Formats: sequence, structure tokens, C-alpha cells
Amino acid sequence: MAQEQVSTITRDGNIAICAIDSPPVNALGQAVRQALFDAVEQANSDNGIAALVIRCDGRTYFAGADVREFGKPPVPPILPDVIKAIETSSKPVITAIHGTALGGGLEVAMACHFRIAEPKAKLGLPEVNLGLLPGSGGTQRLPRLIGVPEALDMIGHGKPIAASRALELGLVDEIAQGDLLEAATALARRVVADSIPVRRTSERDDKLGEAGNAALFDEFLKKNAKKFRGLDAPAAIVDLMRTTLTMPFAQASKLEREAFIALRDGPQSKALRHAFFAERTAAKVPGIDKSTPRIQIATVAIIGAGTMGSGIALAFLQSGFDVILIEVAQDGLDRGVATIEKTLAKNVSSGRMSQDKADAARAAFSPTLEFERVAEADLVIEAAFELLEVKQEIFRKLDQHARKDAILATNTSYLDVNAIASVTSRPEQVIGLHFFSPANIMKLLEIVRAEKTSLAVLASALDLAKKVGKIAVVAQVCFGFIGNRMLHVRRQETEAMLLAGASPYDLDRVVEGFGMAMGPCRIGDLAGLDLGWTRETSTGETVKERLCEADRRGMKNGAGYYDYVDGKPQESPAVLEIIDTFRREKGVTPRSFSDAEILERMLYPMINEGAKILEEGIALRASDIDVVWLFGYGWPRWTGGPMFHADATGLPRIVEALEAMGAGHEPAPLLRRLAAEGSTFAAHDAKA
Ligand code: NAD
Repeated sequence: MAQEQVSTITRDGNIAICAIDSPPVNALGQAVRQALFDAVEQANSDNGIAALVIRCDGRTYFAGADVREFGKPPVPPILPDVIKAIETSSKPVITAIHGTALGGGLEVAMACHFRIAEPKAKLGLPEVNLGLLPGSGGTQRLPRLIGVPEALDMIGHGKPIAASRALELGLVDEIAQGDLLEAATALARRVVADSIPVRRTSERDDKLGEAGNAALFDEFLKKNAKKFRGLDAPAAIVDLMRTTLTMPFAQASKLEREAFIALRDGPQSKALRHAFFAERTAAKVPGIDKSTPRIQIATVAIIGAGTMGSGIALAFLQSGFDVILIEVAQDGLDRGVATIEKTLAKNVSSGRMSQDKADAARAAFSPTLEFERVAEADLVIEAAFELLEVKQEIFRKLDQHARKDAILATNTSYLDVNAIASVTSRPEQVIGLHFFSPANIMKLLEIVRAEKTSLAVLASALDLAKKVGKIAVVAQVCFGFIGNRMLHVRRQETEAMLLAGASPYDLDRVVEGFGMAMGPCRIGDLAGLDLGWTRETSTGETVKERLCEADRRGMKNGAGYYDYVDGKPQESPAVLEIIDTFRREKGVTPRSFSDAEILERMLYPMINEGAKILEEGIALRASDIDVVWLFGYGWPRWTGGPMFHADATGLPRIVEALEAMGAGHEPAPLLRRLAAEGSTFAAHDAKA
């Protein structure tokens, strides 16, 4: 088999320089591993070579393992063997780091005898984010270089550190001032001239002082309990480091490899890897590429300064845009401005934002009651009341006042974006930009592509999402788009189960036990049970309406499904009584639900709706539906999202459970077909 050419070896006197060039990120695939292995062997067998420098071409040092090789049989040399060869080399190995040294990349660097980095370099072991641990000596070498507490922090959180910090901690020996290769070669020459012996990280123990300190590991887990909830990898990392750092290196490395393989082949890492790729795939939209024209956006006008309008304004201000916030009423405007000011001040006091940046945001912000100022904007986002007539009226006015090339967006949660676009003379400029609450924090942006939305507008919206730090998913128009349409189904299930005999507290406990940030009733309380409800129009036909009629409106008035005491939810006997009365009136004899049945009713009808959304082309891919739920609704990342979870559960099981649920739960044709073929949503995506 022809070997892919990924390396060149050049000589500078008696220093050999191995340059790896495997675009885009010099991932440690088989060819790269082989090249490194060969370079070390060559350096050791050639008497003319006194030291070896390992460096990378292109935009970065080794940015990690080649994730495309996951799930395939390993092709030698495997990374631990390459790393061992580097470390045991009798000729000194010096490595030059630019860009990012991540995961396996940093593991390679730590096995080299000397490390030099450019000032902008970043170094980290981010494996935990993919449900893994460093499996090629990272858990053993990092603490030997920087000490146990710092290593635990870096590996447990997976956050890279800057070169300057790496120098402070002893992870790199030098920061190159000027040309990196020259500095690395100079270091190599010094090592040779001064006969500095090779320093093998695995043989060091001067920084392992805290390795036997059990309290250190317990405290780390306790301090991060909330963040690590439900995840296997952080606990596995702590367990491994706790038990192996006092063992001989070779024995510990064996246990590390075993723990790595167990995680890699387990369900969580597969789900987390899916989530990683799903997020990147969502940004790809057929028909859009670099050549698609874009509309430049610098000034954004936002209509409505309520919950969403002020959150959206903050998101844009924090990202350096000029923002005009437009209201109909002075008190509404004042409230919005106060919220924005309070958040900016809080961001500064908490250190999340510099004073300069906050001042720049204030200077870029103009609140106003003058609608005509939309004429200054490149993009207008309407965030007024959720009523079609209100929105259509606003878009008629926008058609008169906004610039011809401006993008006209609506933040509607459910309404028909085509019907909104139709009142303008330029429906191709109209799009849905569905932000989630709180809009300055939530990562998801559902981009709703209406029938006539132009490709330029869509492409600009996708670019914009990145600029405001959002993860965009494109949806077509339907009631509730992707996320809220599925949420609506879960709401209906919640009502049906409450009526049939389930308690709201059991529903929340089971859903939260699955890993969702909040159960359906807690979410209802948080959003406000009276959204869209009025006493005059109340039919009293749902538990929710009955609660509103009893003035239980949710967290905001201290009473919803729960009683809120000092902001903390407590189960409410009064609510159980209201539900009981409702059941009696409806002639329902309550029955009990097992936790397993509750979970299936909470998840499977939603997944079924997801299958319909996919089949109708509302979502481009099943993985996009996963991204919506992961980033917009607190779905547990370690289960990969609803559609991935369905695949992992087995589609035939879901079909069977839906059929058993009876009327109103008929499996979607696509779900039925994939189940019958023994296929999956992932396979369906791969074919699309
Ligand atoms: P809100 O009631 O808090 O705010 C709406 C604001 O719009 C009010 O301040 C009102 O005075 C103002 N307004 C009404 N008509 C106007 C007009 N013609 N010109 C200028 N301002 C006008 O509502 P919200 O929760 O911010 O929701 C706004 C929109 O965002 C709705 O379409 C809603 O469905 C959508 N949305 C809400 C959420 C959420 O969680 N609240 C999430 C996503 C999307």
C-alpha cells in the first residue's frame, strides 16, 4: 500500500528536523504515527544525528487523535508505542509547538525531552469533552510535569491553557521569541553542546508529592459535582489518577489504556462524539458555500424590548454590533434598557467582560421609540408579541422604512414565517431567527428558512450565528419549527399523564433522572403557566389552565406546579388536590405509572415527532434535531440527543412502545420503515 507522504526530514548540521504536514490539523492518523516512529528510529540509527526536532507544518501542531479512526480496528503503530519510542530515544528529542497541542498531540509533546512553544500556542487534554480520558500516557505524564492538582484540573475539565501558563507550570521549557524553528534548533544545539542528558518524563517524580492525597481527589469531585452530573469520564479520570499515580509508570500506563478503551467503546463517548460532529455538520447547508453572496451586517435593529428583545440586544452588543432597540411604550423601553445595563454591569463585576468592552457596548447601543430608525439597520429582528396580526403590522411598516437590502427577521416561536413574509414586497429578505431565552446565554439559534428566503439571506444568517457565538440549525416553516413542535408533543403527553394518574413530581423526577436539566413541570413554572392564558378565555380543560385559574402562574408568583419557598420548589398538596378534582370531574380513575413507562411517554412521542419533522424536510438531518435539543432544551449531551438516543435504544423498541401507547401515538412512516429495515436515523442521514 502506498504510504501517504506526511513528513520530511531535513538536516541542520547534526540536528535532524522532522516536519509533519498532514492538513488540516496534523491529526495523529496512521501515516503521521508511522512517520514519527520512523523519524525516531532514523535519528537513533544515524551516527551523524545528535538530536531530533519534531515540528509541524500548517496552521497547528498535532491537534489530537484522528477521530475518523475511532470505531475502526487500530492500525499499528498505535500512539502509545510511538510515544514510547520518542521517550526512550537515546538521542534528545526537542519539539516545537505552534497553534494547539491537544489530546494525543500534547501526549506526544510530553514524551519529548524538551518542549518549546510559540507565545500564542495553546496546550490541553480535552478528551473528557468527548467522554474519554487521555489514553497514551497523558494522565501519567502531565502530573509529573506540572503536579497533581493542576493536572487534575486540566484533564478533568479538558480546558486548554496558554503557552505563558504552560511555562509557569513547567509544561514547556521555553517560549520562542521570534522564529519558532530557529529557537527550537538553537535549543537542540545547546542540549547537544552541553551534553544535557535526555529527560524522560515518565522517570520523573519530583512533582508527584500530592499523588497519595485522597482528599485532593474527593474535593475535586465534590467541587464539580454539578458539572460532572451524569458523566462517566470525569469520575473515571479521577479514579484512575487516584490509584495509578503512586504505581510504577508501566503498570499505571496499562491501566490507563484499559480505562481509555472502556470509555471509548462505551455508550457515552459514542454519544458525545456524535454531538461533536452533529454540531459541526449543522452549519453545512446544501446550496451554500463560500461563493454564495453575503449581506454585511454591522447595525442591528431590534423591535420589542421585552424578555427576548433585550436578551437579543445583549447578545449583539456583547459581540461588537451597533444595536438600535425599538419599543412602542416608554416604560417597556425603560425596563429593557435597565435589564441590559444590569447585565453589562454584572458581566464586568464577575470578570466575564472587561470594562472597556462594556463601555464600547454602551456606546454602540441606542434605545428609541422611533420606528423609522429601522432605516439605519442592516438587519432587523422583530421580537414583539406572539400574534400574527401584530407581526404582520410590523412587517408592513418595515417594508416601508427598512433599507431594500436589509434582512428582515422574526423571532417568532410558532407562527407561520411565510404568512409574515407575505405582507412585504420582498419576501426573499425575510427569515426566522428563533433565539432561545435567555438569548444572551442560550447557544441555540433556529434559523427558519421561509419559502422565498434567498440563499444570500440564509448564508448571512448562518455567518451571523457564528459571530454572536450561537450554534445555528436551519429549519423550514411549520408550527413550532423543530424544537417547539417536539416540545408541544411532550406538553400534550404531560397533560395526558397527569389526567390519567401520574404526579407532576414523578414526571419531573424521571425526566431529570434521565439527565434533562429540568422536568416538564419545572419548565412550565419557569416559563410561566399563564403564557397565552387569560381568565376570560380559560376553558378549564387542562391541568395547566386549572392551575392558572387558582392563580398558580408559576415561579413568578411563587406558585405553579410547585410552591416556591425562598425560590426553591416544594411539592404542593394543593396542586395534587386540584389535579384530583379535575380527574373526578372527568370521570377518570387514576392509575399508577412505573418510572420506565413515564420515561417512554416523555421521550418516544417526541422522537416520533422528530421522525415526522425529518420526513417532511423541516429538518435537514436527524443530527440537526439532536443539536436543537442539546443546545436549546438542556437535553443530556451524553445521550447524544433524541434521535441518537432513539438509534441507541433501537428503533424497533420505540415502534413497539408507541404502538402500545395507543391512539394518537401511531409511529411515523419513516420511523416504521427504518425500524423494519433494521436501519437507524444515523444511516438515514448518511444517505441524504
Ligand atoms: P414580551 O412580552 O416580554 O416582550 C414583547 C415586547 O414587544 C413588549 O415590551 C412590547 O411592548 C413590545 N412590542 C409589542 N408590539 C410592538 C411594536 N409594534 N413595536 C415595538 N415593540 C412592540 O415577549 P417576549 O417573551 O420577549 O417574546 C417576544 C417574541 O419572542 C414572541 O414572538 C415570542 O414568541 C418569541 N420568543 C419568546 C421566547 C421566550 O422564552 N419568552 C423564546 C423564543 C421566542
